[in-house]
Amino acid sequence: MIRALIYDLDNTIYPVESIADEVFAGLFKLIDDLAEGISASDIQTAKNELTRRPFQKVADEYGFNDELIEQATELLRNLTYNKPMHAFDDYRYIKTIAVDKFLVTTGFVKLQNSKVKMLGIAGDFKQIYVVDPESTEKTKRHIFTQILEKYNYKAEEVLIIGDDPESEIKEAKAVGIKTVLYDPEKRFTNADADYRITNHRDIGELIL
Ligand SMILES: [Mg+2]
Repeated sequence: MIRALIYDLDNTIYPVESIADEVFAGLFKLIDDLAEGISASDIQTAKNELTRRPFQKVADEYGFNDELIEQATELLRNLTYNKPMHAFDDYRYIKTIAVDKFLVTTGFVKLQNSKVKMLGIAGDFKQIYVVDPESTEKTKRHIFTQILEKYNYKAEEVLIIGDDPESEIKEAKAVGIKTVLYDPEKRFTNADADYRITNHRDIGELIL
């Protein structure tokens, strides 16, 4: 029996695309101004990646220089999003599922918290964790383990739901928790996780 569901935020609860222009405008300008020795096509790919993955990882992978990293980090550390936001249509199914729900998201703490606020979803979760790579060496797997210990769930009583095989899916596998890839656009195969759903409604069958 499943007693708890642990959700990712970005692209799992709401589409990042819906806020990307505004959130990333300043960052993308800094990249255009300061990136050196990176090809135009790599810069474009890096920008796309930034809408899906933590800044620190993308900066590493694409070899952003120190000045760019420093200025971008300063910008992102203080960034908040303060306009109304809308969850995916099928979020309403998450709201109605009667098991404990947690939100575990990676990113800059002010920005992630502002998104939770603007989505108005704080009340839907038993606890919300923001893993900020700037202030902790911990990753999502540590939080998953922490939740199991704090609330006395066995690993087999929990499911992790997220959109990124390289993030929460990998992190959950590392600590032996079953994974559900939320993939409404069918970008991946079933092989990337224990289960794959294209609509949050489908979680109902997995928790019986
Ligand atoms: Mg995500």
